[in-house]
Amino acid sequence: MPELPEVEVVRRGLARWVAHRTVAETEVLHPRAVRRHVAGGEDFAHRLKGHHIGEPSRRGKYLWLPLEETNQSVLAHLGMSGQLLVQPQETPDEKHLRIRIRFADSLGTELRFVDQRTFGGLSLHDNTPDGLPDVIAHIARDPLDALFDDDAFHQALRRKRSTVKRALLDQSLISGVGNIYADEALWRARIHYERPTAHFTRPVTAELLGHIRDVMNAALAVGGTSFDSLYVNVNGESGYFDRSLDAYGREGEPCRRCGTPMRRRPWMNRSSYFCPKCQRAPRVAS
Ligand SMILES: [Zn+2]
Repeated sequence: MPELPEVEVVRRGLARWVAHRTVAETEVLHPRAVRRHVAGGEDFAHRLKGHHIGEPSRRGKYLWLPLEETNQSVLAHLGMSGQLLVQPQETPDEKHLRIRIRFADSLGTELRFVDQRTFGGLSLHDNTPDGLPDVIAHIARDPLDALFDDDAFHQALRRKRSTVKRALLDQSLISGVGNIYADEALWRARIHYERPTAHFTRPVTAELLGHIRDVMNAALAVGGTSFDSLYVNVNGESGYFDRSLDAYGREGEPCRRCGTPMRRRPWMNRSSYFCPKCQRAPRVAS
């Protein structure tokens, strides 16, 4: 499942290779990939035709392409296995190619949505006054957004009466933090994932936010080195940050800080990885 850094790498690639081009033709090869566009594939293709793609935007894990001259955007749902590829037109179709967008210029490349499991797709939505596709209006700003309000987040965290990892994954509170980067940031901050947030102090929240930003920026820095090619990639196999992970996926391996074997616990149908010594469980389990 792509998280914020992976999606941001894709956004940058799209900004470089797709922004400001005019859509000539859209081909929907599998109806499931446009199922969120209620009026169907033909309508989707018709509405894109002739429009300029604006500056690709992102909030949390959500990525969209504004259609200039309209008040609408194409929202990309990457799901588990969705990829947006910019390919030379002569490249043979991928086995799981679902949507192809051709442009009215002589650059010779096209945008392809490829999705093996077809959980993802593209859909067209009206924008809110903020320029957000209306279906994601409830998604909070992400921690790399210049307008993210640290103090408001702190207040909301305390009001929430939740536990910290649950709060970090609550997209109405803070967006873009998924299971992997939550575990990484909590390990760096030495905070157990079940710690209640009601009594968080400002310094604790500030330190945690700092670690979240650091770990995301580190992942971005690594991902950013490989996107110079024409291949704009997002999928579960990208894994370019795997070698840098300190917590996620390291069950039984020594904590890089204290050497204690890392643990994994089932958590909300997923797993939480933590160091039992550095990240003490709260005394009263919630
Ligand atoms: Zn440790």
